[in-house]
Amino acid sequence: MSASNSILDSPIEYLKGVGPLKGDMLRKELNIFTFRDLLEHFPLRHIDKTQVNLINEINPETEFIQVAGTLVDSTIIGEKRGKRLVARIRDKSGILELTWFQGITWVQKSLLPGKDYLIYGRCGFFNGRPQMTHPEMELLASVKSAGKNFLEPIYPSTEKLKARSLNGRQLGTLTSVLLPQVAERDIPENLPAPLLQQLKMPSRYRAYCDIHFPKSPQDYQAAVRRLKFEELFIAQIRLALIKLQRHRYSRGVVFEKVGDIFTHFYNHVLPFQLTGAQKRVLKEIRQDTARGKQMNRLVQGDVGSGKTIVALLTMLLAADNGYQSCLMAPTEILSQQHYQGLTALLKDLPVTMRLLTGSTKAAERRKVLAGLADGSIQMVVGTHAVIEESVQFQNLGLAIVDEQHRFGVAQRAKLWQKATIPPHVLVMTATPIPRTLAMTAYGDLDYSVMDELPPGRQPITTVHRNEMQRAGVMDFIRTEIAKGRQAYIIYPLIEESEKLSYEDLMQGYEQVKSFFPEPKYYISMVHGRQPPEQKEANMQRFVTGDTHIMVSTTVIEVGVNVPNASVMVIESTEKFGLSQLHQLRGRVGRGSEKSFCILLTGERVSKDARERIKIMCATNDGFKIAEKDLELRGPGDIEGTRQSGMLNFKLASLINDKAILESAKKYAQLLLEQDPDMTSADNLPLKSHLLAKEGKTSWSKIS
Ligand code: ADP
Ligand code: MG
Repeated sequence: MSASNSILDSPIEYLKGVGPLKGDMLRKELNIFTFRDLLEHFPLRHIDKTQVNLINEINPETEFIQVAGTLVDSTIIGEKRGKRLVARIRDKSGILELTWFQGITWVQKSLLPGKDYLIYGRCGFFNGRPQMTHPEMELLASVKSAGKNFLEPIYPSTEKLKARSLNGRQLGTLTSVLLPQVAERDIPENLPAPLLQQLKMPSRYRAYCDIHFPKSPQDYQAAVRRLKFEELFIAQIRLALIKLQRHRYSRGVVFEKVGDIFTHFYNHVLPFQLTGAQKRVLKEIRQDTARGKQMNRLVQGDVGSGKTIVALLTMLLAADNGYQSCLMAPTEILSQQHYQGLTALLKDLPVTMRLLTGSTKAAERRKVLAGLADGSIQMVVGTHAVIEESVQFQNLGLAIVDEQHRFGVAQRAKLWQKATIPPHVLVMTATPIPRTLAMTAYGDLDYSVMDELPPGRQPITTVHRNEMQRAGVMDFIRTEIAKGRQAYIIYPLIEESEKLSYEDLMQGYEQVKSFFPEPKYYISMVHGRQPPEQKEANMQRFVTGDTHIMVSTTVIEVGVNVPNASVMVIESTEKFGLSQLHQLRGRVGRGSEKSFCILLTGERVSKDARERIKIMCATNDGFKIAEKDLELRGPGDIEGTRQSGMLNFKLASLINDKAILESAKKYAQLLLEQDPDMTSADNLPLKSHLLAKEGKTSWSKIS
């Protein structure tokens, strides 16, 4: 099926009523180049034309309203930035003020005093009078003569287009010219017929007609649902195909056996029972790594769910099968902590683990590089120094990336060059992203969730306190220290170079010292401006319990583990995002003691910050917090998903269309299970649709 001779590929200026001038405007303002682009320029909403209200029915609660009346006059008032056009409309009940801030001259030229207009827009009140800003206007006479549908589409438009008689309403005239010329074969079905039947969805052609000019609100809803489903379904099929291709064609080293090292560790060293979630993920990893394909698995676990031990067990599995492994962490501190924790566990086992970071001394570095190259070192922990070009492995079989969102895609790609057969990759992140988002952003990865915390953890109690209650907060820390516990006090140094917040931190430190004087109390301070050795030494004093309080910036955000710390105070909480707050809070509640998180703010807090604080006080569940974060900020901001073009949908929203996404995912999986090559007649339309967009699908290797 060739799409190239479809009428939909015609340049937009060929449409009756457009022409070169408007064509140019449509291209520049709305990216509408072809008939197809216009067809895919969907209405914002529809106005029920039978509904005209009176001006005196407008009240402060009114949102959108449609009125009809005579234009009394229009005047430009104000100077420079305050300049605006004000027009007045009168109906039999009153007067409505219309205001424009942009395109003033154009709009004024087009307004005809004495004529009757149909006016639609969002109202507000200004000085007690109803007012509408940048309304949609149309001469009543032309509305009547056009005899349009009673559900009239209103399209997104721009001020420039409005000035050229292409406002949200007038764009509808163009679609009403376009649609009758579009035949069913121009919009071929791309979903399998049985699926459409099962889900009671309209055909693609029908949906495109009805989203513009529905006969009823129900028809409109059905059209929208169908087109959203189509978007999400096809995205899911694409991702699943990428995954399938990897599973079919990739080659991976085989970890065929669970050997002595793993077994000895599991039976004699492992200090606790694994949680159900840890066991499940390990089993998935075992299956992945035993089948001769490359593993590419993302493990999402909430803070404290115990990902490190899963990482270590996987590294032991690699060692049992004669392969080297590396564990990469985003910061020096975290690498060191992993290294210390893991080597302590490994001390009686016949494997060698080394640390490699940016601050590893030259002599040690040479030794580590030599050991990795000749295979005498089986495991290396470090920052991205581990994947620098100079690091050569004898036979790297496994790479684990902790806290994935700080590692760029390019850095991960470097791993592939470290061995002839690419190593298995395990990506671990403690910044949960909502499942719905993960499905789309990471749909091409194998994906495990660790949603269970080790037993005996007590939920962290989180409270909000303001500046006036600071002394009470310090008293509280004192009582916890008296019980033998330790506390974190965190300052928001968002940019480590930011001078002002650096001074805040120093001031804060002095203040904490005055509350907690030596020699009764000792304080560690860690921030990004310290040389690595000093940072490390200060951190170490806190880890070993020599200091009672850790004053720090967010450098400790990720991964650091001091189970004896039971209080986390966060200064200027309003400056932190939700997932960051959750990460920070995850530094306490790691032992069996009851832990507390105190969110400090000034007296006045913005509405958004209040909302974040409320959520933090209400739940400890990282996945719930991630959902909320998504709702508050939208998907574009969620960490790690920004580069993913998979999130740009025309209609579907990952926040509001979760149910449709779930069902799209389910049916996409089902389809590929039953017919992975899409050879059945029912699936051919889908296949040709995907082939037509081959570039995006990387289909070529499959068919
Ligand atoms: P995260 O998933 O945040 O990286 P860690 O791996 O640092 O969490 O584990 C947090 C703490 O929980 C550590 O002190 C670790 O020893 C402990 N832990 C991990 N798994 C278990 C378990 N199954 N039972 C008890 N404690 C565990
Ligand atoms: Mg961790």
